[in-house]
Amino acid sequence: MPFLRTGKAVAPDPSAVFEGGGATPHGRRPFQWELQAGSVDSVRSEIFAGCANPSCRSGWLRLWRGRSVPIFEGGWTCSLECTVARLRRAVARELEGQGTVRELYRHRIPLGLLLMERGWISRDQLRLALDAQKKAGTGRLGQWLIRQGAASEEMIARALGLQWSCPVLGVEHHESTTLATAIPRLFLDAFGALPLRIAAGRVLYLGFEESLDPVLALAVERMTGLRVESGIVPESAFRPAHARMLEVTFPPAELVEAISQSAAAYALARSAERLKPVASRLVRVHDCLWMRLWTRTQQGALPETMTVQDMICSIGMMG
Ligand SMILES: [Zn+2]
Repeated sequence: MPFLRTGKAVAPDPSAVFEGGGATPHGRRPFQWELQAGSVDSVRSEIFAGCANPSCRSGWLRLWRGRSVPIFEGGWTCSLECTVARLRRAVARELEGQGTVRELYRHRIPLGLLLMERGWISRDQLRLALDAQKKAGTGRLGQWLIRQGAASEEMIARALGLQWSCPVLGVEHHESTTLATAIPRLFLDAFGALPLRIAAGRVLYLGFEESLDPVLALAVERMTGLRVESGIVPESAFRPAHARMLEVTFPPAELVEAISQSAAAYALARSAERLKPVASRLVRVHDCLWMRLWTRTQQGALPETMTVQDMICSIGMMG
């Protein structure tokens, strides 16, 4: 590893997303950031640092060709070959941990039982609603209880909150436009999630109608660097807010279908080479990979819509 980059820039830490993108995005050699940082020792080490691919075989002269992007997960790579190598490792890393988050939520008390135990509904009311649900073959238990007058919407939302050990959230002051960069539109649509607001510049409230999605929440947390607090939003508030949110302008997103992990890594690396991001990251969301590329340094808690691009990649063998 002759050109191993030192320091925190290579650490796979969400807070490191914007490392290296601190100054002007283009025409900047990697060592200049260190020059601004001031230490003579760090300048010396950065002159011979550079490509973040540990198995980079480029000669040091090549590293001087004035290239400072793309930056992926805090590290800069010198060539398509090295970008592919890093993406390949990241793709393998993401797919390795598949299926571990959901385990935590396997043993939840059934909603009907929870309502009954709390004395909010009677055994007869539960039986009636379960029968109706079974007969109709559709609809959620909570909806049937509301329809039959056994429970109110608030009561169901509270019970879902207890079931998932999460708060019940409201949609007041929902600014859908500013939240468009929290999650790609496709995930909003497919997983029924609704970003609600950002608190203190570091907590993102994420609403769900019926059940939380811890896999998605973790992915958003890793991608945005914000702490994600998930909660249940009562149906009558969730539906219109979700519909409104789907209407706003989202960052451009590209869908990629790859036949293998290595094809996925190559496709994602090509996008990085083309878009020359000042920062980019890769996370897994259920059976797909989400790569975000920042073309400009992020200023606020979330990036501006046109300064990021999303790549959503599914791999044939995963499904
Ligand atoms: Zn390299």
